Amino acid sequence: MLDCAAPMAAQILDGKSLAATTRAALKQKVDALVQRGVRPGLSVLIAGDDPASKVYVRNKTLAAKEIGVRSELIELPGSVSEQQLLDQVAKLNANREVHGILVQLPLPKHIDSARVLETIAPAKDVDGFHEANLGALMAGRPGVVPCTPLGCMRLIEHAGVQIAGRHAVVLGRSNIVGKPVAMLLLQKDATVTICHSKTPELAAVTREADILVAAVGRAKLVGAAMVKPGACVIDVGINRLPDGKLAGDVDYDAVKQVAGWITPVPGGVGPMTIAMLLENCLSAAAREKSAS
Ligand code: NAP
Repeated sequence: MLDCAAPMAAQILDGKSLAATTRAALKQKVDALVQRGVRPGLSVLIAGDDPASKVYVRNKTLAAKEIGVRSELIELPGSVSEQQLLDQVAKLNANREVHGILVQLPLPKHIDSARVLETIAPAKDVDGFHEANLGALMAGRPGVVPCTPLGCMRLIEHAGVQIAGRHAVVLGRSNIVGKPVAMLLLQKDATVTICHSKTPELAAVTREADILVAAVGRAKLVGAAMVKPGACVIDVGINRLPDGKLAGDVDYDAVKQVAGWITPVPGGVGPMTIAMLLENCLSAAAREKSAS
């Protein structure tokens, strides 16, 4: 077991490569499920023309197809009514060939996203955003775990970084990343601090972190002076710079001189998010098969 405190040049946590290995293992599971008479099915719903969302959903459905998951992309106009969207989700809930339903966020402003997410059958909620699944995570009971937080944990675990007894600091308290990743770290016996926009003296807190997860949405917010030497730094942020390039919430070039482990952006958490989505979809299909 490697030790967070050991000083060393940062090792790059290659999410692209870990995601490829994960997808290859998942493909074998799909083949096994197909042998048992079930082909996992994923339906992705998108409403509107947000270009970034369109790229994300295309990547998700393509990745699903590549491992043999039956995937469909349902594209609705930005003018779709909330009721039409709810009806569409209800149809997918009732369709036995669909094991996973994902509604791409953000939804158009006139639609109550929470209401839509709560309409997805919890067992098919492969994003893990339904309150039943978030509640299960909070209570430490089985449920669907949100993909990005799960991907963060896989990266940390794959690196062999000790979690139990370590101080983990999470920047960001959203329901889809910050809070669930904090819960997962807590479940693995880390001592967890959650920071947000009202946290004073942020650097003083982050410098205490053996494991630092940044999920803020502010390009290069985390500089080298905010990082404890040897820490494991997981960068969830995806930010578009004025020159069009992508940057994380961490100043990668500076922090990699200090950290023990670091995820790049792109190529870190992003690919793992998609791999975990596929894993959640397969688990949903396997559960449905066992129950039938
Ligand atoms: P979000 O809902 O906007 O939440 C951002 C959080 O950061 C909030 O809790 C906010 O605090 C906090 N925050 C904002 N400015 C801060 C500051 N200066 N100091 C400390 N905390 C600050 O964002 P999200 O959905 O969690 O996403 C976070 C980032 O991850 C975004 O860049 C997003 O694109 C990216 N993301 C990536 C993936 C992936 O697959 N790689 C998946 C999901 C999201 P308050 O609560 O006080 O406002």
